Amino acid sequence: MQNGNHKRLVIPGPVEVRPEVLEAQTQWMIGHRSKSFEELFARLQTKLRQAFVTESRVYISGSSGTGLWEGASRNCIRDGHKALHLVGGAFSERWAEVSKLNGKQVDVIEVPWGQGHTPEMVADALKKERYDAVCVVHNETSTGVTNPIKEIAAVVRQYEDTLVMVDTVSGVLGAELRADEWGLDIALTSSQKAFALPPGLAFASVSDRVLARAKEVTNRGYYFDFIEMEASLKKNNTPSTPPISLMFALDRQLDDVLAEGLDRRWARHLHMRDMTIAWAEQRGFGVFAPEGFRSPTVTCVDNRVKQIDVEGMAKFMGGKGFSMDKGYGQIKGKTFRIAHMGDMQPTELESILAGLDEFIGA
Ligand SMILES: *Cc1c(COP(=O)(O)O)cnc(C)c1O
Repeated sequence: MQNGNHKRLVIPGPVEVRPEVLEAQTQWMIGHRSKSFEELFARLQTKLRQAFVTESRVYISGSSGTGLWEGASRNCIRDGHKALHLVGGAFSERWAEVSKLNGKQVDVIEVPWGQGHTPEMVADALKKERYDAVCVVHNETSTGVTNPIKEIAAVVRQYEDTLVMVDTVSGVLGAELRADEWGLDIALTSSQKAFALPPGLAFASVSDRVLARAKEVTNRGYYFDFIEMEASLKKNNTPSTPPISLMFALDRQLDDVLAEGLDRRWARHLHMRDMTIAWAEQRGFGVFAPEGFRSPTVTCVDNRVKQIDVEGMAKFMGGKGFSMDKGYGQIKGKTFRIAHMGDMQPTELESILAGLDEFIGA
């Protein structure tokens, strides 16, 4: 690789990409209306369905995950109907904002940053009001909270007209997710988090219920119109020119992911979470997320008692070749996050934690 001074990314996105995956992007360009592209698309479709554990379909979008937020809200919430957003951190806040800015009516269940949502909260809300969709962030990257989406989806599934829309941007492939079995109508993600690819692609598993709904929505916009994406997908294609080089990288990465196996990959992430939590607690830090909600892909270390100099830590770790996070938004410095997602291995996490020990003098 070109950059001799590269610092390995320990930030929660973009995450470190393996050289073989970067290399896969350098294949000769092909036309997106060619036979070779159709073959590539079909291959990716098969593998993406395995990744999301779905038999329906997975859209590939030339955008970041934010684009598919807009797509999900735009295609699934009808005029005169409402969406229920579960808000408890920077990303869930922003998705609710995206729905509103697209002219949708939004109610929120808000919990303080660092807390998660329970199925009971959702059950109560659904008893009081009808919703076209419940929008939930699987893994709130700003706070290191993982929501019980399987249990939340089970509650929503009791209402025929209500879709379950999940932002799993820092979840899927790091945290267990089974789209069909759990009844998730949309599970959307970006390439640069637990997929461990460069940024620029986004994926969404989409149920038949979503397509039925989209047909009832008059103004779906253009770029993220699911009906158009579906028509193209049936021809193993995309409506407009996709980032083909990134799709080469995806092809390679999914081979490796599926060779590792989803169960083993999920277990590796849980192991790294437990290593990080044990380290934090033994050194006198807290963990921002409560027990039962702690993320397999990113740990948000609570620095409010120990109060290490987070700027100094990041600088010190930079000298060791690691790019560290310093906390997000309103909890910057009060917390810092250690991402353990994608292709990171426990041995690498050990050297990161050893570096942190050197800084704090433990
Ligand atoms: C990073 C992130 C996003 C935004 O994704 P982009 O790819 O930057 O658009 C949304 N939700 C969560 C949970 C994230 O971690």
